[in-house]
Parts: sequence; structure tokens; C-alpha cells
Amino acid sequence: MTNKDLADVIFPNITKTIADYEKMYPERKIEEGASVTRFAPSPTGFMHLGGFFQAIIDKLIAHSTDGVFFVRNEDTDQKREVEGATELIMNTLSHYDLLPDEYEFKGKIVGEYGPYIQSERKEIYQTFIKHLIEIGRAYPCFATKEELEELRNAQEKIKMRTGYYGRYARDRNLSVEEAIKRIQSGEKYVIRFKSMGDFEKKFKFMDEVRGLLYLPENDEDFVIMKSEGGLPTYHFAHLVDDVLMHTTHVVRGEEWLSSVPKHVELFETFGYPLPKYVHTPLIVKKEGTSVRKLSKRKDPEATMRYYEEQGYPKTAVIEYLMTIINSNYEEWHTENPEKAYLDFTFNPKKMAASGGALFDMEKLNNISKNCISKMTKEELLEESYAWASKYNPTLKEIIDRDKNYYMSILNIERESAKPRKDITTYQDILANIWYMYDDLFEKEDTYEFMKVTDKEEINKITKTYMDKYYSVEDDKDTWFTKVKSLCDELGYASNMKEYKINPEAYKGSVTDISTVLRVSLTKKAQTPDLYEIMQILGRDKMIERFEKLS
Ligand code: GLU
Repeated sequence: MTNKDLADVIFPNITKTIADYEKMYPERKIEEGASVTRFAPSPTGFMHLGGFFQAIIDKLIAHSTDGVFFVRNEDTDQKREVEGATELIMNTLSHYDLLPDEYEFKGKIVGEYGPYIQSERKEIYQTFIKHLIEIGRAYPCFATKEELEELRNAQEKIKMRTGYYGRYARDRNLSVEEAIKRIQSGEKYVIRFKSMGDFEKKFKFMDEVRGLLYLPENDEDFVIMKSEGGLPTYHFAHLVDDVLMHTTHVVRGEEWLSSVPKHVELFETFGYPLPKYVHTPLIVKKEGTSVRKLSKRKDPEATMRYYEEQGYPKTAVIEYLMTIINSNYEEWHTENPEKAYLDFTFNPKKMAASGGALFDMEKLNNISKNCISKMTKEELLEESYAWASKYNPTLKEIIDRDKNYYMSILNIERESAKPRKDITTYQDILANIWYMYDDLFEKEDTYEFMKVTDKEEINKITKTYMDKYYSVEDDKDTWFTKVKSLCDELGYASNMKEYKINPEAYKGSVTDISTVLRVSLTKKAQTPDLYEIMQILGRDKMIERFEKLS
């Protein structure tokens, strides 16, 4: 009996050959030098920040060469699969305008190299595995969990490297007859790769991020198919899919770097050239003085949902991640403010490799503030309305009352050389505008008066102001000159310098007068430009609010 008999016993229904699949997945018809990248998440119910980070890089690489970016759903670990996970991934990519060129979603396949869901490619993997068995480079392994555990313990005891390799790879020497007999008697098994590597030898490996590395050859007979008739492991699916889909750049987390020797041996065994590998750094955060991996259990900011829910503009999230992706991005962006981030040329050498990429919330917040400050009122209306419709019914209801009124409030200190920067996320909007709406104004109990708190004095100030100094026609300079005149009339210093030299000579200064006007109208001590607030409120409403304090 031969290996071929063994292969036929294991895969009686596999009749195609590798050559058949090579014909079905021919070279792509793309320009020479065009890159093919893929984002290959496992459907675990989360879109991790690190995964999203990789998707941006995939898109950048493909975009800069007019290549192809596709999404492959890596669902071979069906125990971990979560309902709706693929939807979540596709929705997130779509939210950030990162939809791939090829994908499979809700039964629809877009692209010629599918299926793009691994569980639908079982027959393809099995064809490749069958070939390995036929040439004696893969075999069924009957070791039970307990036996493997025993092996591990024994290796640890004598301080040997643990694993199923070399003389510890017991079942690699089973005769074909015996293997077939055990399969036919119903024993459970997995398929392992038969390694020819030597752990003592090193080979050169080019990582696009880290440069040239010397790695030990693989000598492990690692599992390539998880159970009889089952799905392949990640290592094997990576080989088959990235070969047939003609991936040129594998962008994946650095946790896969230690598996490179396995992948190299697989590619060599089949005689396929290796793709380029971009192993992205772990995203880490500072905690006290130490640094640790962002964890999806402990850190809400580890999943992409967080940024959407909090109301970060998508441009801010991408721009922030771009600053981690390449250390020279910020400089490029400052020099090319009009260009889209996709025009930036990604350079893997300019990505943090050792020690991870530090996630800095403060920086994200700053970028976000800037992004929002640069939006026009129309853009901010559109974006914040879309957000509020999903996450903040109160804000949505307020916008629905009168979109133009809402925009006029947002437009205070906007569209100018020094726009306001008091909004970090859409979540902050309500806290910055509520006082412009009568019902919300009513609901708030506290007036944040500062120095001047005496009711009579406050009334005197506001009444004198309305009677003698306020006019809706005034431009900003005239408005301010009149506020100063009000100061002079009531014994407050209109000139701050003079006030500082001789504070006893005055009841207070122009700052205190402005505060009285501001707080009486908004209840808040800090607001954007008071002149603009008055313009929007108008005379009647101002009098109404001033009178509430009398
Ligand atoms: N499914 C793998 C993961 O989620 C993908 C790794 C890769 O991109 O090759 O880690």
C-alpha cells in the first residue's frame, strides 16, 4: 500500500488536483507592480483597533499601486464564531470608507477569487492536503489530548523544547497499513505536516517592517487539518488562500512572526514564492509607568465600536491611526493639508516595530478637536446628525426642531482663521449648546456667576445694558465699545491695565461685566463668543432671560 492509498482513504471525495485550482485562480489581470492585499479577520464579534489599523495599511498599499484590496473571512475556528460578526466588520469598514474591492457578504460574492469565506473553501484546502499526503509530507496523527499533554510535561521536565517534532513526532513513522487500519476502525485523528526542517539551522527572512531577520527553521510537525474531514488550521489556510488569491503583501499582527518558519516551509514544499510580509506592531497603552497591550476586555478603546459610539469623526480616527502607522505622516499632512490620507505613500520601515505602537488618547482627542473645528457648519450638521440618529436621541430631537438654528449655533467662532475648539466628539455638542434652547435652559438650575453675585447689581447691569447700550445692528467692535461704556457708567474698569494698577478704584472690570451678561444669558461662565450668542438669541429673548433674574 502507498501514500496514495492513504490519501484516498482520508479524502475519498476529493477528485480535483492542485493544478485544477491553479487554473481556476489564474494570475490577476492587473498592472505589473500592482499590489494585492487582504484584510483577514476572524469573526469573533469585535473589530479590534489593531485589525482596523491593518485594514488601513492594506488599503494604502493597494491604493498606491492601483492594486486590489480584498477581505477574507477567516472562520475556520467555528467554536469562536459569533453571529453578526461579519456584518460588524463590513459595517465598520464601510463607516470609514474602507470598503474592499473584493469580498463576500450576505451571500453575495464580489470578485473572481472567491469564495472569500474560509469555511466555503474546505474542498480546496483538502485538495492541497491530499497532495501532501500523497507525497509523504503529511500524515494522520492519532495522539489524544492527554497524550500530547503527557509529552509536553515530559519535555518540560527534561528542559527540552516542547512540541510535536523530530523523535517526539510519534505518528510520523506509522506505516500506511497501520494508519489506514486505525482510521477504518474509527479512531479520531488530525493531519500533521511532516517537517524536514532543522531547528539548529537559521534562514534569512525579510520582514518589510523589521528588515532582514535570521529565524530558526521549522521542525515541528504542526497540525494542518484539525479533525477528520475538517477545516485547516490558520497556517495551512494562509498558504492556500494567499497563493490562489495572489496576495502580494500579507499585512498581519506581529503575533504571527513566530509562525513564519512554518509558513516558509509550507511555501517551499509547494514551490510557491513567498508574499511580502508586513508584521504590524502590537498597539499598547501606558498604565502608570508600565506599558501593556490594549485589551478588548479591559479597554473600551480597543474596539472600533468605541470610537463610533463616542462620536469621533471618522477622519479624526483615521488621521490619528495614520500618525501611528508612519512616523513621517504628520509632517506630510502638514505640508499637504489638501491631500487625502490615501495619497500618502506608506513606508513599512517608518512603522514602530519593537516595543509596540503607543496608543495616545490625548493625541486622538486633539486631532479630533482640530478635525471638528475645520468642518463647515453644513458638514458638522450632517455628521453630528448621523451620529445623533444612532446614539443620542436628545441631540437628534434638538436638531430636528430647526436645522438652520442648530447650524447657526455651531457656526459661532467657526469658519474663521482661529475656529473654536471646544468640541472633541459629537458627544460634546449638547453640553456646549443646550443653553441656546429655552426648555433646556429652563431645566438647568445653576447660574455660574463669579465675582458679581448680588441680584440687584446684576439687574442693574443687565437693565442698563439693554436700555442704553444694546443694539442688534452693532458690529462686533461697536458692541464691545458699548460694553466698555457700560463699564464706565457703572464704575467698572473698561481698561484692564488700569484696573490692574488700581483695582480698589473700581467695582470690578470689563471681565466681570461680560461674565454677568454671559451667565445671565447662558447660565455658563464659559461659552464661545458672547457677541455671536446675543446675535442669535435676539433682543426679546435676551430681555426674557435677563428678567428671569429680577
Ligand atoms: N485571521 C487571522 C487573525 O485574525 C489573520 C491573520 C492574517 O492576516 O493572516 O489574526
